[in-house]
Amino acid sequence: MPITDPEKKRIAQTARLVMKICFNCGCRNDINATRCRKCRNPYLRLKNRALGVKK
Ligand SMILES: [Zn+2]
Repeated sequence: MPITDPEKKRIAQTARLVMKICFNCGCRNDINATRCRKCRNPYLRLKNRALGVKK
């Protein structure tokens, strides 16, 4: 079922795509995270792809 509400779609895409990736182990972390949840590495990069991923 396609999502028709643009506001809900925006929230869903944000939840899927906006996250931080650990430089060390590559695992995903919360956008608000300051350290990696696995290896405690403080160097996180932002994953923020262009919107339009359809799944
Ligand atoms: Zn890590």
